[in-house]
Amino acid sequence: MPLEDAHGRLVSDLRVSVTDRCNFRCRYCMPAEGMPWIPREEILSFEEIERLVRMLVGLGVRDVRLTGGEPLVRREFPALVGRLRAIDGIEDLSLTTNGYLLGAQAADLVAAGIDRVNVSIDSLARGRFFEITRRDALDRVMAGLDAIASFPQVSPVKVNAVPMPGFGRDDVLRFCALARERGFQVRFIEFMPLDGDRSWRSEEVLTGAEVRTMIEEVHPLAERPREPHSTARVFDFADGRGEIGFVNPVSEPFCADCNRLRLTADGKLRTCLFSLHETDLRDPLRAGADDAELGRIVRDAVWRKELKHRIDEPGFRPPARTMSAIGG
Ligand code: SF4
Repeated sequence: MPLEDAHGRLVSDLRVSVTDRCNFRCRYCMPAEGMPWIPREEILSFEEIERLVRMLVGLGVRDVRLTGGEPLVRREFPALVGRLRAIDGIEDLSLTTNGYLLGAQAADLVAAGIDRVNVSIDSLARGRFFEITRRDALDRVMAGLDAIASFPQVSPVKVNAVPMPGFGRDDVLRFCALARERGFQVRFIEFMPLDGDRSWRSEEVLTGAEVRTMIEEVHPLAERPREPHSTARVFDFADGRGEIGFVNPVSEPFCADCNRLRLTADGKLRTCLFSLHETDLRDPLRAGADDAELGRIVRDAVWRKELKHRIDEPGFRPPARTMSAIGG
């Protein structure tokens, strides 16, 4: 029996946060001093992640994305990729990273069996990159992007950018050049109210439509039909040189056919990015629950999956957990 919620949606896409720690301090995610990290003993071990992912694949999960914090800061991370790759039934195993450690780990990740990689880069201008991430690391991130792009079996390679206040035409055109000249799939993702210092304001969100208008002043675009469950509206450059996408959770929510589930680094199941409730899987697992019992807990939680997020609706409250402890 597939994993279904009360709204008739089937769940098949799992995002696994393997750590809440990160080597960057992006302004839209966490304060300069970082966050109070989850104590190590509360973090799922590789064995526990493998066990839970295998159980969830048995319930119908087919796509697994590994996130953080920054997943590559977790020691021996490629070994986890190898463990998950060995699970029958996973059709797509992907990773979201800030790219800083990608150069060093690219070959091991590919050998372990990663299928796709998304690299988060919010500006291609060195100064602005530093301003946003509080790290002077653009060159190293770009070298990481080049490293993973040198493996043709890892495809597509996507570049995710969150347009923050001050993001302008020059920034947009730099990303267009990256898509057009290098063939990376660039995605502009709207700023969401999951920031560590709770300063999010909807009026500060640069919407996908606004970014698209900036692009179309220079490059005409042609929209592709939307794929089921897709978070992005994808466009081809009309002259055929590359594609670009817009993930608009604030201005154009895509919850109606959401098939996503999240597992946090400390073993909590989140049925929505903006869930105000979580379901604990770690403690039952550590207490000896078998897969049938864990499966019942998961099915019950998924049945109560939220219909949609309620950003900007009266009474909207962001979740207690911030993006760095949920993962993309
Ligand atoms: S906000 Fe929640 S329901 Fe909507 S697409 Fe994201 S995870 Fe799915």
